[in-house]
Amino acid sequence: MKITLHGAANEVGRSGVLVEAKDTRILFDYGVKLQDPKPVYPLPVQGYLDGVILSHAHLDHSGALPLLFKSGEPKVFTPFGTAELVDILLRDFLKIARMKRQEVWYENHLKRMKRNFMEISYHKEVKVSGAKFTFYDAGHILGAGITYGEIEGARLIYSGDYKDTETRIHRPAEVDALPEADVVIVETTYGNRDHPDRKKLENEFVGSVKEVVEGGGNVLLPAFAVGRAQEIAEILYSHDIDVPVYLDGMSQDVAEVYLEYPELIRDYEELYKALKWVNWIADERERRKVLDEPSIIISTAGMLNGGPALYYLLSMHQKKLSNVAIFFTGYQVEGTPGRRLLEEKVIDVDGHLLDFSHANIHYFDFSAHCDRSGIHALLKKTKPSVVILNHGDPDAEK
Ligand SMILES: [Zn+2]
Ligand SMILES: [Zn+2]
Repeated sequence: MKITLHGAANEVGRSGVLVEAKDTRILFDYGVKLQDPKPVYPLPVQGYLDGVILSHAHLDHSGALPLLFKSGEPKVFTPFGTAELVDILLRDFLKIARMKRQEVWYENHLKRMKRNFMEISYHKEVKVSGAKFTFYDAGHILGAGITYGEIEGARLIYSGDYKDTETRIHRPAEVDALPEADVVIVETTYGNRDHPDRKKLENEFVGSVKEVVEGGGNVLLPAFAVGRAQEIAEILYSHDIDVPVYLDGMSQDVAEVYLEYPELIRDYEELYKALKWVNWIADERERRKVLDEPSIIISTAGMLNGGPALYYLLSMHQKKLSNVAIFFTGYQVEGTPGRRLLEEKVIDVDGHLLDFSHANIHYFDFSAHCDRSGIHALLKKTKPSVVILNHGDPDAEK
C-alpha cells in the first residue's frame, strides 16, 4: 500500500491523502486552505480514482473536491448529513471568492459533484472496488466520520477531525468501537496540548457574558457556522439569560440542516428548544435594532473574514458604544482579522481601521478537536504499526 499526502502535511488546511494498492486508488478528503490573498489547493491528483472518502464537510477537507470533476466522475462516499453542509459551505466559499475577485477554479462542477455523492450511515460497510469502508461517529461536526477501511487486505484508519469527549451537540467520537489497524492517519491539530474542562469553560464563558449584559452592554460572539454557533446558542439557552440572544449569518442555514438529523444529535430536544429560543435575524431592518439595547449576538464569520459579524463591529464603532465585548469561541488562525482583533484590538472593515482598545476581548477554547490525550487514546485502541500524523502544525505533531 502506498500513501501520499497531497496537503495537510505539517499544516492545517487542504487535507488530501491518496491511498494506492495494486488495483485500488482511493482519495481521502480534498480540501482548500483558506488564506489571503488567495486559497491554497492541495497537489493535483492524476489518473483514475475508484472512489473518494470524505470525512466531513469543513472546507479544509471538502473545498477542492469539485476539481476532481473537471476530468473524471468519482463517487464520493461520506457519512449522512455531510452533503447538504458541503453545498452550503462551497456556495459561500464561491461567493466570497467572487467578491474578493479571486480566481475560481471550478464554478461549473458543483452539480456534477453533487450527483456523485453517496451518503452512508455510520457502522454500515460500503464496498469500493477492491476495498471496503465503515464510518464511525467522529463527534466533530454533523456527519463527521472516522473511517476504518480494508484496502486489498491492509487495514487502515483515517481519523479526519474528531473529538473524543462529548459536547452539547455531539456524542464523543466512537474511538472505543474502532477495530485494530495496520496504518493510522491521525489529525494532530492540538497534538501538543490539552483542552480545558468543558463544564468549567462553559461557566466561565457564561459568567463573562452575563457580566457585560447585566452592566447594560452588548456581546458579539463570532462563531463558526457549522456546529459552534448552534452549540453556543444551546449553552446560553441552558443558562437562563434574560436579554435577547440573536443568531445571524450562515449559521441559520446550517441550523436548519442540524434540525433535520435528530439521530445524529446527542440531545435533540434541547438543541431544538435552544434554536427556537434564539432570535433569528431575518433582514437588514432587524439587524439595525439589535444594538439599541443590551444584547448577545452569535454571528458568522468565526474568524471575522466576512459575514454579518463585521456589520456589528462597524455599527458598535459608529454608535461609540463603550460597554462592548467580543468573545471568540473558536481558534483564530494566524493572518485572519479575528486574530488581529484578539491580539492588537484593531480590525480593518472595508478599509476602515477600527480601534477596539476599550472593548473586552477574549478567547474561549471551545474546540471540536481531540487533544493530546485523545490522540493517545485512538492509537492505544487501534494498535497500528505505522502512524502518519497530519492536520497539525510542526509543533503539534511532535
Ligand atoms: Zn473539521
Ligand atoms: Zn480539518
